[in-house]
Amino acid sequence: MKLLLMGPPGAGKGSQSERLVKDFELTSISTGQMFRESHRNEEPLGIEAMRYIERGELVADDITNEIVRKRLLKEDAERCFILDGYPRTVSQAKALDDMLAKMRSKLTAVINITVDKKAILERMVGRRVCKQCGLSYHLAFKPTRQDGICDVCGGTLYQRPDDQLESVRNRLEIYESKTQPLLAYYKGRGILREVDGMQSFDAVYQAICAVLKELT
Ligand code: AMP
Repeated sequence: MKLLLMGPPGAGKGSQSERLVKDFELTSISTGQMFRESHRNEEPLGIEAMRYIERGELVADDITNEIVRKRLLKEDAERCFILDGYPRTVSQAKALDDMLAKMRSKLTAVINITVDKKAILERMVGRRVCKQCGLSYHLAFKPTRQDGICDVCGGTLYQRPDDQLESVRNRLEIYESKTQPLLAYYKGRGILREVDGMQSFDAVYQAICAVLKELT
C-alpha cells in the first residue's frame, strides 16, 4: 500500500499519519519532519531548507525531490509507505511519478482531508512539537500529560516558527495556489478520495480506515 495524505496545513495529516503508521506498519515519509531532523543535525540541506520554512515558504523543488528520492530507495519504503506533506506542487507530483515508475511502482491512493479555513488557524497556532522525537500535540485538542513535556520520550515541546500566525497565513495562501491544483491532478487519475476533517480525530481516522478497507 502506497498512500499519500493530503490536506491544508493543520488538517491533521501528521497526527493521522502517526496513527496509521502504528496500526498498519507503514513507513512514514514526511518531508517536513525530514527537513526538521536534518536541521537539528546541523546538515547543510536542513540549514538551507529552514531558511524557506521559517518564512512559511515552500522549500525549492530540487532540494525536496532529492530528499524524497533518497528516502524511497531505503529498504523500509519498498512495500508500504505513507507520504505526508509531499508532493506539494504539480512539479513534485510529476517527479514522484517518475521516481515510482523507475521502481516499477505507483501510488495506491491519495486521501484528501478537507477542513474549514477558520478551523485551520485555530489548530495551527495551538500546535506544539517535541524537539526530540518530532511528535505533534495541541494545547487544546491533544494536550500532553505534563505541560510542555512529550508523553512518549520526555522531550521539550516547542512551537514551530512556521506555526506562528503570519507564517500560517502565508502557508495557507501557498497551499491554495500551489498545492490545491494537485487535487485535480490526482482526481484525473481516479485515485483521489476525500475525508471530512471537521470531525473528531477518531472519526477522521475511522473514515480513512474505511477508504483503506475499500482499497484492499
Ligand atoms: P510540514 O511539517 O509538512 O507542515 O512542513 C513544514 C514546512 O516544510 C513547510 O511549510 C515547507 O516550508 C517545508 N516543506 C515540507 N514539505 C515540503 C514540500 N513537499 N515541498 C516544499 N516544502 C516543503
